[in-house]
Amino acid sequence: MQDNTPQPAASAWPATRTEGLARIAAFTPHMGHDYASRRNYDLGPDKRGNVSVLSPYIRRRLITEEEAVRAALSAHSPAEAEKYVQEIFWRTYWKGWLERRPSVWADYVRGRDAALTTQDRRLSKAVTAAEEGRTGIDCFDAWAEELVGTGYLHNHARMWFASIWIFTLQLPWQSGADFFLRHLLDGDPASNTLGWRWVAGLHTKGKHYAAQGWNVAKFTSQRFHPADLNETAEPLEEAFDPGAARPTRSFMPPDPARPAVLLITEEDCHPETLNLPTLNGAATLQLSAERSPLPVSGSVTRFDRAALADAATRIAAISGEVTALNAPRPRDLADWATRAGATQIVTSFIPQGPVRDWLNTAAPALAEAGMTLTEIQREWDTAVWPFATAGFFKVKKKIPHLIEDLNLAP
Ligand SMILES: Cc1cc2nc3c(=O)[nH]c(=O)nc-3n(C[C@H](O)[C@H](O)[C@H](O)COP(=O)(O)OP(=O)(O)OC[C@H]3O[C@@H](n4cnc5c(N)ncnc54)[C@H](O)[C@@H]3O)c2cc1C
Repeated sequence: MQDNTPQPAASAWPATRTEGLARIAAFTPHMGHDYASRRNYDLGPDKRGNVSVLSPYIRRRLITEEEAVRAALSAHSPAEAEKYVQEIFWRTYWKGWLERRPSVWADYVRGRDAALTTQDRRLSKAVTAAEEGRTGIDCFDAWAEELVGTGYLHNHARMWFASIWIFTLQLPWQSGADFFLRHLLDGDPASNTLGWRWVAGLHTKGKHYAAQGWNVAKFTSQRFHPADLNETAEPLEEAFDPGAARPTRSFMPPDPARPAVLLITEEDCHPETLNLPTLNGAATLQLSAERSPLPVSGSVTRFDRAALADAATRIAAISGEVTALNAPRPRDLADWATRAGATQIVTSFIPQGPVRDWLNTAAPALAEAGMTLTEIQREWDTAVWPFATAGFFKVKKKIPHLIEDLNLAP
């Protein structure tokens, strides 16, 4: 289903690797002291020079975490680049954490579906008013409009917005997370779900983020002065227990002796740097609509489509013609791979989220066609995820070793 809300000009976010690299290059001089001292300010949609706005590119690996960290360390000392580098590791930490507690994603999906189908008319009207920026809380209403209009929100605004949604408006956190996922160009199952859980006080039990009016005023440079926030709310509690961290999911690596085709998804749009076997062909798999049972914004869908097309252009030199599978049925995937003469589909490791869920539903059709789904995990994830078992601190203290082990410093 197509969302008819006014959309930002696609030209504001060209979804190509070339654009991602240009953005890294432009921001590299600011990845040191500048970023550390100014990153917390949300100065407004037209003033984003204090942050990198790289997330839609890194989320799809049009550019990689590794490239962003290398850029920072090429221009700044490890001490100067520390904050920027840590932020990149936050993304990997969230992804690894969710991978090691997959029931948290399944629980979010259950909670979201329950929230979206509530029979409580007062509640669903309040959610609609919040999404349409009609709450009367001027900062919140402006961010709702900005999110829908641009596909981006500053990190601090995401924290304030989620906090007001949960504690002041007392709406279900899962419907807020769903609203984000339908509109954020960088919408990511791990960063988003766990970002919302963190604000609610469900990630670190009992430790929540209660937005304060003075803090909004200071870090929006006095653009907003909210006076009616619930600043003394208690953290949320839940009956669900995420349990202890599990080992990461085991997966089948490609077999170089078997005919293979490559499947490119939004999880990794830089396939030419994966250690690929010889390929009989390649396809892009677009699953934007799987982000939510509600219509996903046109700008997200367009960004996904363009990012996949960009990856296809680059991989075609290795794989030959690339087929575009747009919201296919599982059977279509199996049929395409069979027609290409393959017995295995190779893809990047697919973490928890809508793409993984879709591939799980496709497993019977693939098995029936005698097709094996094989995955390639990036060295980056293999190196970091073992430490994503508890709080971020465990990853943070390993960063100097990871920089050395992954050979990231010049
Ligand atoms: C409630 C909530 C929901 C969020 N949902 C998403 C989401 O769906 N997708 C997403 O990519 N990020 C999400 N974030 C994290 C963060 O807000 C964005 O990654 C960041 O604002 C992107 O803007 P930037 O590229 O200008 O960031 P910069 O400040 O320039 O940071 C550089 C890079 O570091 C990474 N990064 C920075 N902060 C974080 C963080 N807190 N968590 C994870 N990675 C981070 C991103 O890759 C980012 O591109 C969420 C945060 C919150 C509080």
